[in-house]
Amino acid sequence: MSADFSGDLLRIARQAREWSQTGLARHSGVSQANLSKLENGLISPTENVLNRVGAALNFPVDFFFQNDRVTGLPMSVQYRKRASVGKKAKERLEAELNVRIMHIRRLLRAVELEPELRLPQLDVEENGNPERIANLIRRTWLVPSGPIRDLVGWVERAGCIVVHCDFAALKVDGFTVTIPDMPRCIFLNRSMPADRQRFTLAHELGHVVMHQVPAPEMEAEANTFASALLMPAQDIRRYFSGRLTIQRLATLKPIWRVSMAALLYRAKRIGAITDNQSRYLWQQMGAQGYRRTEPPELDLKVEMPTVLAEILRLHFEDLGYSISDLARALCSSEDDLRTLHPLPGGAHRLRVVK
Ligand SMILES: [Zn+2]
Repeated sequence: MSADFSGDLLRIARQAREWSQTGLARHSGVSQANLSKLENGLISPTENVLNRVGAALNFPVDFFFQNDRVTGLPMSVQYRKRASVGKKAKERLEAELNVRIMHIRRLLRAVELEPELRLPQLDVEENGNPERIANLIRRTWLVPSGPIRDLVGWVERAGCIVVHCDFAALKVDGFTVTIPDMPRCIFLNRSMPADRQRFTLAHELGHVVMHQVPAPEMEAEANTFASALLMPAQDIRRYFSGRLTIQRLATLKPIWRVSMAALLYRAKRIGAITDNQSRYLWQQMGAQGYRRTEPPELDLKVEMPTVLAEILRLHFEDLGYSISDLARALCSSEDDLRTLHPLPGGAHRLRVVK
């Protein structure tokens, strides 16, 4: 153990379990006064206290002696859903985010990730508008015209790590974390339908490309970018020719792999339908209940991220790690490892690429 005891990581472990200091005091038999001082770095733990706290939290004590700096939630999560997400749930999300980043950082030590595609930074003011920037990205990557089939694949080839997480209770679609010396990590809520995951991923890619610093218009710009990346005006216009109906939107959904709602927005945005047509179609969408849930028979297949799965596979197959070896290397319990990652025999399917 090279680093000192980290009060911040004690807090992260406690928040990962959605416990207050009082809750942890009850479960560990360590007084809340001591826990508070430990988290604030005012005292160092005795071995007895460490063991009690580690056991109560189901974190190996090594976890508290890592020198990782704790990361806060990105701005977009901070205020986007402020009203609907409680403090405890937000703290748990922050804890999960930090634990995941620590895992990814350690897993990356064994591999060299070399992006195949360039991921340029394009300022909105200098490059016109998000629509044009989406076009530039497609051209930079040489994406064939028409629908993008495997968006996760493109984004991962550009050097980002896409991570599926369970944010169901949190009403968070996704967010991006940028940390020096690490690839961009884009976290997606895996409980969303596939079309919404794709749109969210395109939206996050928009932030990565356009927003080095938060800007007032960033959410609208990222949505426009996502819409233009997935449905370029020049490619999709002819699909909207003739009379656009709900049935037509349903037919287009599996082709373009975006929601009927996203298609309808796009049709309006590129001027393929009038205000009146748009209003009428939205009414129809509402009447059918499609504004809440689109027809389940049109659900798309989820695109699975492969980079993290491949790095885990490499640890197990090429480097000969067992699950308990990996838990030790990541300073994690095996339970957390299974919850957080696609492990062989775990809850997730490990997909081997190549
Ligand atoms: Zn956003």
